[in-house]
Amino acid sequence: MHWLFGDQLGPHFLTPGEEGPGPETPLLMIEARSVFRRRRFHRAKAHLVLSAMRHRAAEPGDRVTYVRADTYRQGLARTARGRPVGVHHPTSHAALRLVRALPQVTVGPARGFLVPMTGFAAWADGHGGKRLRQEDFYRWVRRGHGLLMDGEQPAAGRWNLDHDNREPPPREAASLQVGRPYRPREDDIDEEVRHDLDRWERDGDVSFVGRDGPRLFPATRTEGLRALRRFVEHRLATFGPYEDAMLAADPVMSHSLLSSSLNLGLLDPVECVERAERAWREGRAPLNSVEGFVRQIAGWREYVWQLYWYFGEGYRRSNALGHTAPLPDWWNRLDADAVRANCLRTVLAQVRDTGWTHHIPRLRCSAVTRSSGAGTPPPSRTGSTAASWTATTGPCSPTSSACPSTPTAAG
Ligand SMILES: Cc1cc2nc3c(=O)[nH]c(=O)nc-3n(C[C@H](O)[C@H](O)[C@H](O)COP(=O)(O)OP(=O)(O)OC[C@H]3O[C@@H](n4cnc5c(N)ncnc54)[C@H](O)[C@@H]3O)c2cc1C
Repeated sequence: MHWLFGDQLGPHFLTPGEEGPGPETPLLMIEARSVFRRRRFHRAKAHLVLSAMRHRAAEPGDRVTYVRADTYRQGLARTARGRPVGVHHPTSHAALRLVRALPQVTVGPARGFLVPMTGFAAWADGHGGKRLRQEDFYRWVRRGHGLLMDGEQPAAGRWNLDHDNREPPPREAASLQVGRPYRPREDDIDEEVRHDLDRWERDGDVSFVGRDGPRLFPATRTEGLRALRRFVEHRLATFGPYEDAMLAADPVMSHSLLSSSLNLGLLDPVECVERAERAWREGRAPLNSVEGFVRQIAGWREYVWQLYWYFGEGYRRSNALGHTAPLPDWWNRLDADAVRANCLRTVLAQVRDTGWTHHIPRLRCSAVTRSSGAGTPPPSRTGSTAASWTATTGPCSPTSSACPSTPTAAG
């Protein structure tokens, strides 16, 4: 039997080899309610994860046994009953501890990333104690995967096109003039999920934060592929120049909105970067946009994930800046209305209403605010505090997209 976690939903988690399941191996999925009790989820994220899992189990002709249980252990005991179970390496230390503690479970290598963890460890160890740099790693990945390469040289002779990708938003424009992103249509499974979440909340079993409007992100492989196609055909060309710009009235701009599909395992990062490269080679998107997109996936996404594992469990708690103040309650409640500083209010409202905001608001508004001012009174209370909160967004370099937090299962 092979166990699929809720973020291992695409076909690349089932291909044989490297301890993948055989074509006839029965599959097991466990929907564990305890996951939603352990920490407070955004309601739209809970909806998306459950919808994606239930859609996966409902795929016709599949061999999935879908169990609803209180905990993973209970679900496994009820279904596998002592039989051997294989699983691909999960995406958090906590989940890895769990599967390793279960004697019947064999853990295979991770999938859903470009570089095996052993490959990254060898690369990082090979630095002989020198500082690890994302740019070096990214070039190594490009070489190893032949991504945007012309023989031994980077495409068009340049590894880094950040210089072309620092445009401010067009003057006077409230939004970018670019094709709309793909948005899915809800179905009966979504209705059932919403009904269940309402009931769990009503029963006091779990509590969520944020709003759960119509589902905005793909829950199936088909939807994920549509989103990828729409992005590559209609939005990739303008991705690069504005990737580090923000517009209050246009939260999405030219971003791909693919992170949740990648994190749920609906899309393989390899297919995303290869399609983008093809668009450039066929003259459908300029190199700066394609390189910028490839850099986010094969560079940043990959690097943050690899560091999480390379530095071990203590990394999450390393707190290099020595911050100890708790996050304010209005922050934890995503209470945008309690905030007067426009940048922070706008971003909190986006997260409250959609569960998503792009990497620059995360970096410049939310992360910088968190790391500089957590625990101080909200900006609405005193003018001077508001000023200092706004000022904290200043020192960031305009193109810096360092990601100080670790991707979670569904972004
Ligand atoms: C402070 C901070 C916290 C973040 N937290 C998360 C998180 O919890 N989960 C998560 O998946 N991503 C996180 N990111 C990365 C990124 O912001 C989101 O993945 C991205 O906003 C998703 O939108 P998109 O798919 O439209 O991205 P696009 O801009 O279209 O980029 C394409 C893909 O590249 C990857 N990517 C883009 N920017 C980054 C980045 N800075 N670091 C790593 N990967 C990146 C994502 O997989 C994304 O789907 C964080 C970034 C920052 C700065």
